[in-house]
Amino acid sequence: MPERPHDVLRRRSLLLAFVACAWAGCATVGEQGQALVPTRYQARTGPFIVFSNAPLAADAPALHGLHSLEADVESALGLRVASEQPAVEVYILNDRESFTHFLRFYYPELPTRRAFFLAQGSRRVVYTFQGERLEEDLRHEATHALLHVAVGDLPLWLDEGLAEYFESPDNRRGLNAEHMSRLPQDVALGWKPDLAKLESLTNVREMTTRDYRESWAWVHFLLNSAPTNKALLLSTLADLRTSPSKAVPLSKRLPAGDQIANASLLAHVEKVRTQPAASAPPAEVTTVRLQDTMPDPAKRSFFGRLRGMFGF
Ligand SMILES: [Zn+2]
Repeated sequence: MPERPHDVLRRRSLLLAFVACAWAGCATVGEQGQALVPTRYQARTGPFIVFSNAPLAADAPALHGLHSLEADVESALGLRVASEQPAVEVYILNDRESFTHFLRFYYPELPTRRAFFLAQGSRRVVYTFQGERLEEDLRHEATHALLHVAVGDLPLWLDEGLAEYFESPDNRRGLNAEHMSRLPQDVALGWKPDLAKLESLTNVREMTTRDYRESWAWVHFLLNSAPTNKALLLSTLADLRTSPSKAVPLSKRLPAGDQIANASLLAHVEKVRTQPAASAPPAEVTTVRLQDTMPDPAKRSFFGRLRGMFGF
């Protein structure tokens, strides 16, 4: 399975072993002697301060993606990071090798990934590296950061669904061609959406690639199907911000009940999928988050399924 490590490291209880010397650059990449955590250049856009070892032009796609994300989140969810909040720190390492070295040095327990977000106290930090999916990775992780600042902790599925929704470039309005192309295959294999089951997941390691697709689909459905559905999502976020322990799960807020809501989700995805604007080919590189070593039943080949059935 192609790599798409990733993801948000929802390590709410993470005790960061950030000893002072680490931040001062004790961790270096071998021969180059270059600091693993880039601090040489800084660029500020909205609530983000971006650190890198190479200068980023003011119109760099990475900065543009972060800038537009702030507006996208505010437009869709009415959420904005207050100016008095500490900036979200974004570290863009030089390349995959540096990032891999960084992970091994600071987070040896983590599986391979391309980016991650972590929060500790008032600090929100995103780590990633210069690569061909930098903008997408940044928007995904930065969405987690913005939500964490503006709302707080979100249910896992909703956190990931929103990050998947906003990771696409701003002109896609939350459409994810890859997810839309996979969901019909999921249905053909017998999968049915089940929001209540999705809500029961609390550990990102439990989430399969299909769970990510479903999370994205629910968010897209809620934000784009009917004003009443969008209002349900916004009221949920408002409750999570003000009284998280009392926030009623979305599956319990949908007035039509689980079964009808689940059917409505599939109808919505099919409607969006068949619209001309949504028919762009899926990305060739498959998105996999955390499950990069787990088989995804929706993507097993016909012969692979035969082998599974007959054991050859
Ligand atoms: Zn994520």
